[in-house]
Order: sequence, then structure tokens, then C-alpha cells
Amino acid sequence: MASTFETRIFINNEYVEAKSKDVFTIHSPADGTLISDQVHSAGEQDIDAAVDAAQKAFKGSWGRQDPIERAKAMFKFADLIREKAQDLARLDTLAMGSAISTQTMGYRIAADLFTYYAGLADKIHGEAIYPTSTGPYKIVQREPIGVCAGIGAWNVSSILFAWKVAPALAAGNTSIFKPSEKAPLGVLALGPMIKECFPPGTINIVNGAGKTGALLASHMQIRQIAFTGSTATGRKIQEYAAKSNLKRVSLELGGKSPSIIFEDADVDLAAAKTAESTLMNTGQICAMASRVYIHETIADDFILRLKKAFDAVDQRNAIGDPLAETTEVGPLADQAQFDRVLSFLEIGKTDGELVIGGARRGQTGLFVQPTVFKNVARDSRIAKEEVFGPVITVQVFQTEEEAIKLANDTVYGLSACLYTKSIARALRVSREIETGSIAINDWYFPSLGAPFGGVKQSGYGREGGMEGLNDYLQTKTIQIKEVAVLPNKRSRADCQRNQHQYYLVMKSILRSTFDGNVRKRRASVGGQLVS
Ligand code: NDP
Repeated sequence: MASTFETRIFINNEYVEAKSKDVFTIHSPADGTLISDQVHSAGEQDIDAAVDAAQKAFKGSWGRQDPIERAKAMFKFADLIREKAQDLARLDTLAMGSAISTQTMGYRIAADLFTYYAGLADKIHGEAIYPTSTGPYKIVQREPIGVCAGIGAWNVSSILFAWKVAPALAAGNTSIFKPSEKAPLGVLALGPMIKECFPPGTINIVNGAGKTGALLASHMQIRQIAFTGSTATGRKIQEYAAKSNLKRVSLELGGKSPSIIFEDADVDLAAAKTAESTLMNTGQICAMASRVYIHETIADDFILRLKKAFDAVDQRNAIGDPLAETTEVGPLADQAQFDRVLSFLEIGKTDGELVIGGARRGQTGLFVQPTVFKNVARDSRIAKEEVFGPVITVQVFQTEEEAIKLANDTVYGLSACLYTKSIARALRVSREIETGSIAINDWYFPSLGAPFGGVKQSGYGREGGMEGLNDYLQTKTIQIKEVAVLPNKRSRADCQRNQHQYYLVMKSILRSTFDGNVRKRRASVGGQLVS
């Protein structure tokens, strides 16, 4: 199994040992074996060194570089990630157990994100505001912010890295990224590719736990922080920013996304898509549709088909060793996540009716059965809190109004999905759902060119698309006042005096130029005057 991989931190285009001397350990969630007990954890001095390097690159080799050259470097980096996608994915799979096919897709998406933002690097324009008859001209230019930092959750380190670093770089900023301590190895292995493409200090990677993240969020020289993780940690990030230098903050937080299945829906499609969303990355996806609201007339039929869809994955042996290429579903990420999900299974059994799954799967590794509860009490923790595992609740409704009310009955607002054959209903209900994204007849999966992010306590700020780039730019307005020359206020004597001075200056310039030319020509033809 284990191959060699980098465990130090990456600053100024070099791997260096953390000055903190702190290290942390990673075990395989698939079978408990030790992956490494020597992953370096960045402390205060390390973060300062990363900030210094990023600041130098921002003020020079990257920040002042021609945008076309920035684009070329990013295109190259994207290609290198794409080539090595599976090798990089393997490192994250080793650490956090997600199927290698899922993590490989993650690195391909990360590569595409660099390609997408590379294409925008030389297309950042400002605007000019046309003056009123008396007002000044105004030029609004869009500028980079400075040193930006990103902190990622562990479920797809690759995409979270690219969402934060690619737009920051395209805008001319430099970046420091902290992957989660549960899945740092793949992103960390990007070091040589970063070195091949970018000047030192442009991208720095600092492993570590929450303490390292807090150092970034509190740092006085970091101007922007983009965070992906739980709502609880998101609150802290905002606080650190407020207590330090009021750096800009964007928060991509948790979700408890609803899925509304109307009586006219294609039930097979709804069941297949619900199973896909529940199983992808073992349910550890922020946009997973974990609260299903279904019209009462089709609920039993839906649950039967959902069970069949889960069984089909089992029958094709797609749950198991995450390093096997045919595996679709691996274990949960670590013991803490496993314990958390199991505790929610117990809550569900108390507060609702268990209809599918409900226990760990096998005795080796941190696997759980895909699980469905019905008729869960509305104030139960399993109905309200994010489980972040392959667990869903199913609740019936009778009317559209009731479905909308149930869907909005949450502090979160990250994504949602609707299943119906009526486009009018789809658009009408979409307007009413409080969410940052919504899918019709599918579950929502973020795409490159569209903004992704939450409303309510799922956070603010957007990643992906032009909105993702705008988060890394700030505007500066330059006001130009026309200074009028008013001849009637100048006397004739003034003008004559100025004309005379102008004449004297021009004469002296012409004479010195003429004399100089004569001297040069004399020198070039052996002292003879030739013209
Ligand atoms: P956490 O909030 O626990 O951690 C997220 C990141 O923050 C990790 O890198 C973590 O470090 C770090 N961190 C922890 N404590 C602090 C602190 N005090 N200061 C600064 N940084 C800190 O979330 P999880 O990693 O458990 O991720 C799961 C959550 O992420 C879910 O809620 C999920 O919905 C959300 N998520 C949201 C997405 C979105 O786009 N909206 C996408 C993916 C996930 P470490 O892990 O090393 O301890």
C-alpha cells in the first residue's frame, strides 16, 4: 500500500519542516492502518513565513506579472493536475477513505477550475463613469486584494483548494491554503507542480489542525479568508477576522438540503438521484439532499425504489475498498465522523421509524449502511442538524404550500432539489425556496461556471463562475477633475512673457541638439564637417 509522500509544509516553493515541531497522525479509515504519524503542523512562525513569501510574490513576481503570463502559468498547472489526477486522488483516499473514483473526479474538477479561471485572468476590466456636465470623470478599476488564505474541509480537498486558489491567482493575489488534517496529502503533493508553474510564494500550503486555521484567520497581513467547513467553525472565522484586521471573509458552510418530490414526479428518477446523492462520497457532501419531502400518494413506492437503488450498488460490489477502481462507496472519513453518524442513527431510531439500514456495515473499517428514516419528529436533531453521512429522512406532505414550508424550516440554505414534470410548478416553487442553488429533476452538484454558496446559516460569498472571481477583487475609484484653462483671466502681458520663455527654452534645446549632432558626425568622419 503506502508509498512515499510528502508530509512537510510547502512555503516559497520549497518543502520545509514546520518550525513548530508539531506533527499529527493519519490512520486509514478503511482498515485502521497507520498512514503517517509525521504530518507537519504549521505554527505561528510557519504562518508568518508563508505570509512573508506570499507578500513578496504579491508585490513582485506574481502580482506585477502581465495577466497573460499569469494565465499561461495557470493553464500549465491545470494540465499537470489533470495528468496526475489519479495519483493525487490516491493520497486523499488513503487518508480519508473516499472512493478513488470520486477523489479522481475531484482532481479533474480542480484542474478544470484552474483552466476556467486562467481564461479569465486577462479579462478583468473596470468601468468608466461618464461625467455629468459639471462632475468629474470616474474610472473604477478592479484590483487584487493581496495575500489571501483558504481553509478547507476534508471531503474533497482538491475542489476546495481550487475554488479558493484559482480565482485568487487569476485576480493577481497570492494564496496560502490549509487543507483539513483529515485529508492534506493530495494537495500537499502539488508542491513540485506549483514550483514548475509559479514564482516562489505564489501558492503556499500549510498543514495543520484548527489551531493553524485560527492563525490564518487572525493574521494581520492576510487580507481575505475563504473558509469551507461547519457553521460552528465559520462563526469563529468571522470572529477572528473581526478581532484582527477585519479581513474579508467568505463562508461556505454546512447544509441540510431539502428534496421535494411532487405527485407528478418520475419516481424512478427521483429514487435513483436520491440514492446517488446519498451515496456519493459516502454522503459527505455539503449539497447532499438529506431531507426528502414527498407527496403522500407516492411515498411508499418511492421508498421501495430507493431501497432497490441502494441494493443495486451492493449487488455490483461497489461498496468497500476505496482504492479499488470499481468502488463507488468507501468508509466514513475517520473515527470521530463514524461515531457522529452512528449517534445520529440512534437518534433516528428513537425519534422516527427506521425503514432502510440503520447500523454499521461489517466489522472492519468505518463503513455504515445507507440509512432512511420515515416520519421523524420535526424538532428531532436528525431532522435539523447536518449528519454528513449516508443518512436521510423522508417526510410526507399533501400540498405544495406545505412542502415549501417544510423545506424552508431550517437554519441552512445551501441547495435544494425538486422533482416534478411541471415546469410552471418548478419555477414557482424555486422562487419560494430559501437557498443558494436548486436543481430540478436532479440533485444539485456545483459546476465550474455557476456560482455556488449558501444563504441563511450556510454562509455567504460564492465560489465558481464570475462571482467566484469577484470575491478576490476590490474596486478603486479614480476621480479626474478637468482643469480648465481660462484665457480671459490671463493678461496679454502674461501670454507674451510665456511665449518669450517658451521661445528661449526651445532655442536652447535646438542648439544643444544641433551642436551634439555636429560633434557626433565629426567624430564619425575623422573630424571633417560633412553637413
Ligand atoms: P470543520 O468546521 O470542522 O473544519 C473545516 C476546516 O476548518 C478544517 O480545515 C479544520 O481543520 C478547520 N478548523 C477547525 N477549527 C478551526 C478553528 N477554530 N479556526 C480555524 N480553522 C478551524 O468542518 P469539517 O472539516 O468537519 O467539514 C464538514 C463541514 O464542511 C460540513 O458542515 C459540510 O457541510 C461543510 N462543507 C461545506 C461545503 C460548502 O461548499 N458549503 C463543501 C464541503 C463541506 P482540521 O480539519 O484540520 O481540524
